[in-house]
Amino acid sequence: MTKDVVYVNGKFVPRSEAVVSVEDRGFVFGDGVYEVVRAIRGRLFAARFHNERLERSLAGIRIELEEQDSPARFVEIGRELLRENSLLDGEATLYIQVTRGATTRAHHFPPANTPPTVYISVARFTPSRELAERGASVITHPDLRWGRCDLKTLNLLPNVLAAQAAKEQGAFEAMLIRDGVVTEGAKTNFFGVVDGTLRTHPCDSHILPGITRSVLRDLAAEIGIDVDETPIAEDEIPGISELFLTGTTTDVMPVVQLDGRFVGDGKPGELTTKLQRVLAESLASGGD
Ligand code: PLP
Repeated sequence: MTKDVVYVNGKFVPRSEAVVSVEDRGFVFGDGVYEVVRAIRGRLFAARFHNERLERSLAGIRIELEEQDSPARFVEIGRELLRENSLLDGEATLYIQVTRGATTRAHHFPPANTPPTVYISVARFTPSRELAERGASVITHPDLRWGRCDLKTLNLLPNVLAAQAAKEQGAFEAMLIRDGVVTEGAKTNFFGVVDGTLRTHPCDSHILPGITRSVLRDLAAEIGIDVDETPIAEDEIPGISELFLTGTTTDVMPVVQLDGRFVGDGKPGELTTKLQRVLAESLASGGD
C-alpha cells in the first residue's frame, strides 16, 4: 500500500493522524491563505510564481512566518511529500495552507508569539482531458466576494456557493459578474474573444492573479497573440465568439455553453485551441 503522509506544524505524519486544534483561526475565522501547485512527473510547475504569490498573500493579511519558515521551504517540503507518497510519476497537486495559528477565540490578532499553523499535502491528480477537448458549460453568477480577491485566502464562501450553483445546473464553473463586468470564475480566470480581440480582467483587487493566467499571457505574446486587459462588460456577453478559463488544475478549458446558450458555434474556438496547445506543451516541458 502506498503511504499517505502529510506535513503539519513541523512534522511528517500519516494523514489519519494529522491533527489541527479546534481553536485554529483557519477553522474559526477562515483566517489564513493557501496555494495549489501542479506537479508533473515530480516537477512543480511555476513554483517560483506560487512562492511569490504565497509571500504576497501572507503579507496581505499580515501573517508573519517563523524565522525558519518561508514559502520556498514549503515547496521543498512538498517535494519531499511527493517522494514519500510515491507521486513522482504522472500528475499530482501540492496544497499549502498557512493560518494565523490557534488561540482562544477573539477577532483581533492573537499574541505575537502565536505560531502560524502550516499544513502541506499532496494528492494524485488526473486532468479532465475529455472535457478539455469537448469544452465545458458555465453559468453567470453574481460576484459576492470581498474587496481583496487578489489575496488567496481561505475565505472562499462566495466561491463555494457560486461553484455549487454551477454544479446544480450541470455546469463546470460559474463566471462571476461584479458591477456589470466579468471578473473571473469561482476557481479560475476567464478569457473571451470579443470583436476579434482576446480580453481578460486586469489584475486588480477584484481578481486573483492566476499563475496560469500569467503564464498563458506570456505564451500568447510569444506567438504574437495580444491580450487586452479590458474587462468584458455584461452587455458584451452575447457577442463573445470564444470563451475559455484557466487555472492550475484546469489548464485552458474551452467554454462552449454559457447559461444554456452556445458560445460561437458551440465548439472550442480556434484561438482557444491554439492557446490550449501552447500551455500543454509548456506544462509537458516545463517545471521549476
Ligand atoms: N481565480 C480564483 C478565484 C481561484 O481560486 C483560482 C485558483 O484557485 C484561479 C483564479 C486560478 O489561479 P491559478 O492559475 O493560479 O490556479
